[in-house]
Parts: sequence; structure tokens; C-alpha cells
Amino acid sequence: MKKMFPFALNDIVREGLDKLVPYDAHHYPGVVKLDANENPYPFPAELAQRLGELIGGEMLSRYPDGDATALRQDIAAYLGVKPEQIMVGNGSDELILNILLTFGTGGRVFITNPTFSMYRIHSLVAGAKPIPVPRREDFSLDIPALLCYARKPDARVVFICSPNNPTGNASTLEEIEAILQAVNCLVVVDQAYLEFGGQDCLPLLQRYPHLVILRTFSKAFALAGLRVGYMIGNADVLRQIKKVKQPYNLNAFSQAAARLVLANREVFNQQIQEIINNREQLWQELQGLAGVTPYPSVTNYILFRTNYESKAVYQGLLQKGVLIRRLGGPELPGFLRVSVGTPADNRLFIQALTEVLAELGGKQDVPGA
Ligand SMILES: *Cc1c(COP(=O)(O)O)cnc(C)c1O
Repeated sequence: MKKMFPFALNDIVREGLDKLVPYDAHHYPGVVKLDANENPYPFPAELAQRLGELIGGEMLSRYPDGDATALRQDIAAYLGVKPEQIMVGNGSDELILNILLTFGTGGRVFITNPTFSMYRIHSLVAGAKPIPVPRREDFSLDIPALLCYARKPDARVVFICSPNNPTGNASTLEEIEAILQAVNCLVVVDQAYLEFGGQDCLPLLQRYPHLVILRTFSKAFALAGLRVGYMIGNADVLRQIKKVKQPYNLNAFSQAAARLVLANREVFNQQIQEIINNREQLWQELQGLAGVTPYPSVTNYILFRTNYESKAVYQGLLQKGVLIRRLGGPELPGFLRVSVGTPADNRLFIQALTEVLAELGGKQDVPGA
């Protein structure tokens, strides 16, 4: 046997990365997929065909427009802002990282838990210190606590997800404005689910240069596979972020696809309305199951609790071919999140959940909290 060169990997791994567990994007082919809040409807066939026709020629052989000029113009016109106020990213995930690389490194980042996990992960990647600021019991923001922290001099970024993933509730404009008025750091409001509900923060942008809004084509607009997110903010803020941005961060096909989707958004608006109706029905059905507590949602997913261990419920569902999201940690012990699917998906999920709960009930007479 050849002897391996003695290489001390741990000596060169960057400090702080030991706190980081790689994001595990579960991939289970062939299940009813209700774990990632995607648009569950088949992509409109006519649009898919037109997308196919876009591929070819210089789109493949030349570098894309690094400024995504045409897409940014379209988004700006859609929102009624200037193109200089828009930056696009390879998913809003990339924009979160770029914000933190620009402003977070060496400072503190405030994260209103429970919330989207990428704020913490990218804070650690960027060498910033993520500080959790727990939400209240009803998952609303604890503004006094947040302001107490975020007024300190090493505060760089506050993340507010509204509507919040995974809890499903939204913050009001008054709450967001109270934060903006009291802090000197960047306030990022992630509105990935705005198309389904909650208040639009755009009107605040004129008065608050330290507000940045994140949105995405991944959820309501059915482009999760192509990774298109965007940020709306003050042009001076965006110019700083551009320094850390990869020059060709968004590929040419994704740029063109996002433009096509935006131009045809009525198709998706109809789906959005159906998803909202499906959400209401799914919520009622969860509410009707004994031992299940669903939380109110203005999004395309529902947070819920059962009387059983969330791991057992999650695995029982997976065995029956339904994938949902298992949450956990100190903030959400025993909680699960299900994305709103098509009516057929939702029926399969409710049926599987009913069976799993009955099986667990048979095994254990005194349900754990
Ligand atoms: C899904 C999600 C995103 C990620 O969106 P991409 O544009 O696909 O990267 C961002 N924020 C929240 C809160 C999300 O749930």
C-alpha cells in the first residue's frame, strides 16, 4: 500500500467553518414533492416550448450580459423603479451571500429566528457573526429586542423575512418602518413569497436608503430550476455589492427565461390564485385532523405541529411517498412544514398523514408533546 502524504487538512480550513454544516438539499426522485415551496403546477406547455426555442447560437457560445440589462429593465418596469435599483442573482441565495460579503464580514448580522436558514449559513461563509434574535411566541418580530441589538456599532445587517419562511406569517409595513427608523445598518427584507400574501415593502424604498428587498422567480413564477432572484435597493448600495458579484453570475438562458415569464405573468397569476385557494382548503383539512395544529399562513406552505415526534411523522410520510420539510432545533421542536401542492398532491398528503398518525397512535398510548 502506498503511504499518503501527511496533510493536516484541519490546519488550513478557515476558522469559523467548523460551526457550519453543509446545507443538505434532500433529493428524492419520484415522491410527491411538498418540501421546497415550489410552484406545483406543470410549467405551461406553450411557454416551455418557447423557452426551448430560445436555446442556441450565441446564447450558448458567448458570455452572458453580466449586467443583465434587458432583464433588469423588465423587472424595473414591472415594479415601477429604475434599472439601477435592481440587481439580479443566481437565485436570491446568491444575493444574500453577496450582501453579506459586502457588508457583513467582521461584523454582526441579526437574524429573526425561526427563519430561512441561508441567512445564518451565508453569514458564517462571509465571516460575519450571526446573532439570533428570537421572534415572539406567535412568530411576530420582537422589535424592542431587535433594536436593542441592532443599534450597536458593529451591527451591519438585519434580515427580516416577510412573509416568513417557515412560519408563514408576515410583518406589517409599520413594523418594518419602525426598524428602519431606528437603525443605521442595512435592513434586508426577503419577500420571496410576496406574490402569495403580505405587504409589499417597495413604498418604503423612497425614504429609506438602507432598505434592500429580495424577491425571486423560484416560488410563484415557477423557475426554481433556473435560479433567478433579484434585489431592489438604493443604487449606491447596489454599486457596492457589484464589487463582490461574480461578473457573469446569471446565465444567458436564465436571463431570457425570466424575461419570458415576466412577459407572460398572467398565466402564473392564475396559478397563484389557485395555490392560495388550495392553501385555505389544505389548512382546513389539517385543522380537522385530531392532534394536528396548523399555523396561519399567507404563503404557499403551512407550518404545523402534531402530537408525535416530527421525525416519525416525516419518515412515515416519506415511506408513503410524500416528502415534506422537517424543522427542529430549539425554536421549532416537533414542527413540520408542508408546501401547498395541487389539489391532487394535497389529497395524497392528507391521506398519508392520516394513516401515519393512526399508525403512530397505535404504537404509543401517551403521545409526547
Ligand atoms: C426559497 C427562498 C429563497 C431562495 O430563493 P432562490 O431565489 O431560489 O435562491 C429566498 N428566501 C426565502 C425566504 C426562501 O424561502
